[in-house]
Amino acid sequence: MSDLAKHDPEIFALIEKEYGRQVNGLELIASENVVSKSVLEAVGSILTNKYAEGYPGKRYYGGCEFHDVIENLARDRLCKLFGATHANVQAVSGSQANQEVYFAVMQPKDRMMSQDLSQGGHLSHGSPVNITGKLYEVTHYGVDKETETLDYAQIAEQARQIKPQMIVCGASAYPRIIDFKAFKEIAEDVGAYCTADIAHIAGLVAAGEHPSPVGVVDFTTTTTHKTLRGPRGGAIMTTDDELGVKIDRSVFPGTQGGPLMHVIAGKAVCFKEALSPDFKAYAKQIVKNSKKMAKVLMDEGFTLVSGGTDNHLLLMNLSTLKDATGKHITGLEAETVLGQAGITVNKNTIPSEKLSPFVTSGLRIGTPAVTSRGMKEDDMEKIALWISRVLKDVAKDRSSKTEINAVKKEVTEFAAKFPLYPEVN
Ligand SMILES: *Cc1c(COP(=O)(O)O)cnc(C)c1O
Repeated sequence: MSDLAKHDPEIFALIEKEYGRQVNGLELIASENVVSKSVLEAVGSILTNKYAEGYPGKRYYGGCEFHDVIENLARDRLCKLFGATHANVQAVSGSQANQEVYFAVMQPKDRMMSQDLSQGGHLSHGSPVNITGKLYEVTHYGVDKETETLDYAQIAEQARQIKPQMIVCGASAYPRIIDFKAFKEIAEDVGAYCTADIAHIAGLVAAGEHPSPVGVVDFTTTTTHKTLRGPRGGAIMTTDDELGVKIDRSVFPGTQGGPLMHVIAGKAVCFKEALSPDFKAYAKQIVKNSKKMAKVLMDEGFTLVSGGTDNHLLLMNLSTLKDATGKHITGLEAETVLGQAGITVNKNTIPSEKLSPFVTSGLRIGTPAVTSRGMKEDDMEKIALWISRVLKDVAKDRSSKTEINAVKKEVTEFAAKFPLYPEVN
């Protein structure tokens, strides 16, 4: 980055600092990952110079001959990866992909059913503060109070009452397998479209570590930057040709302008990587790591939402981690002290939440990024024990820095053994 260093030292210095943060710490945010150097190179390329409004073979600008090939490669690889027959790779984000699906087949004021944000859902599933919540009449389903998992009979009953035009399934903070067939049946029963948002679990689905919704539901949306380990972006898939046409119109000219062709090239690279045997092994390891982390934390006495995990993330319920006065450590406090110890996690609401989303009683922990750095089950045990030490110490004495400082030192030494890009370090 010699040019950037010379011409914009301010930004260059901040990128350097962020690189240091990523290398020296442990990234356990469930929605983050570390892309390959090939993806970085594609996204940082001259493809960003070009306008390519439209689709391959039907562009509104000249000079798109290479962009057509790139976008077709991205679409074909994505279809192959998930067994879709139609793919749109232009969505700039997962949220955009969802809006584009709704806009393709719904009218303002139509009814939508989706998972409650505070129980694992996503803003773009009709939250009142999101454009999707303003455009559509949204009803949420949640998880069962006892099992903290989805209760399909209950959701079916709710759907019969609401008679929605759209049922959305998929989540940002749900540690268990989602039964897409059950959702499709519920939707069919009431004449609704069914969208599966696999933003978080796409990499697991691609590798066969989680059942696929493609070919089951009507629309599948995803991000490309979470477990799929590609550049920041979104994509939409279907196996219905007519719906495919509607999706393409909804994306362009419906909601977006020129596609980010450098990112689409990065997506194509990511999809090629995800088609490899290495990626299957990677996805398997993500789940093994997550299960190991869950086991050690439970052995240490912590409470996990739903009692464990089937995927890449786990949700700690901190309401059982109490100080001497009986007040529990909040998600915000836990996120802060772990951050000080070099362990990046995020606070998260839990199904029985009593605190605000800015404070919360939960912590979301994910293994995709640390797995990308080559860490295995033994390493997860170490990390879980560090988390345990810091949280228990802070529960004993909120002002204590003893374990924070000790763990920070151990984390920094440990992280240095797992470079982000071994070939350039
Ligand atoms: C992350 C996520 C999204 C949105 O992704 P952005 O690219 O941040 O817009 C959509 N749906 C779910 C379930 C997610 O977890």
